[in-house]
Amino acid sequence: MNGNEKLLEIKDLVKHFPIKKGLFSREMATVKAVNGITLDIFKGETVGLVGESGCGKSTLGRAILRLIEPTRGEIILKGSNILKFNSRELRRARRHMQIIFQDPYASLNPRMTVGNIIGEPLVIHNLVKTRKEKLDKIVELLEEVGMRGEVINRYPHEFSGGQRQRIGIARAIALRPEFIVCDEPVSALDVSIQAQVINLLSDLQKKLGLTYLFISHDLKVVEYLSNRVAVMYLGEIVELAKSEDLYRSPKHPYTQALLSAIPVADPKTNKKRIILKGDVPSPISPPSGCPFHTRCHYEIIERCKTEHPPLRELAPSHWVSCHLAK
Ligand code: SF4
Repeated sequence: MNGNEKLLEIKDLVKHFPIKKGLFSREMATVKAVNGITLDIFKGETVGLVGESGCGKSTLGRAILRLIEPTRGEIILKGSNILKFNSRELRRARRHMQIIFQDPYASLNPRMTVGNIIGEPLVIHNLVKTRKEKLDKIVELLEEVGMRGEVINRYPHEFSGGQRQRIGIARAIALRPEFIVCDEPVSALDVSIQAQVINLLSDLQKKLGLTYLFISHDLKVVEYLSNRVAVMYLGEIVELAKSEDLYRSPKHPYTQALLSAIPVADPKTNKKRIILKGDVPSPISPPSGCPFHTRCHYEIIERCKTEHPPLRELAPSHWVSCHLAK
């Protein structure tokens, strides 16, 4: 990490989706996918973002890049609120902020060659002047992600999942961004390939000074890569801490339950799994008070049902949204 220099400041970010209540209904409801997230991301760090599917983590990643329009809030990049940018300013900002998608099968255009997929952002942003310059740059990018330059004229379907994800990574780093949202980048890959892609992301971070928001439901992968980890539940961050603090001493009951579910290779372990009650409530009508109170395994108090717990700093840089956490 580069000291405490902030790269991104996310302030009270909200993304609500209006939906019809039923197929033939005229009544509308609101899916509260992201509900007032505030988060600073420092230069050179990896912030892991974890939570069950449907908790809003991918929506948050996309809203930060304005791939979907946030409902309100602020996203400050290098001193400017990108939510106020017009399309030309936003295109310029995109040079600094890229995304690696979960599904390497769906994220690459099957009709484009590898060369055109990786070269497209270079052309759009006018970073190459001649055809030779473009080809040289594409070959350099392919080699950076561990592929040979000779694949430049081949199509995505000719590659394995891991190779396709490498192509996606080459495209993401083509503009030399500072910040990349990695949206479940290894969850569609075989376990044997996952480690290779994770090591590649880690090497590129060191080489290019990248900052990552690493979204995953795999807590082991997140622990390996992240400097800090944010835990999301029903569109909110419920715990945020340095990785080693969060894994050693989780303070929110939801984080404790998630960590208790990580399998341990030792058959003699006496680690107890915390089974959460019920399902995740609907983000259309989240519970009053603490959004976790319907599933919490603590002896909850009346305040849990009526008063939303703010994020409190319970230990240095360890933030928790729970009335009872100590
Ligand atoms: Fe559980 Fe209450 Fe803490 Fe919410 S505030 S996590 S319900 S103890």
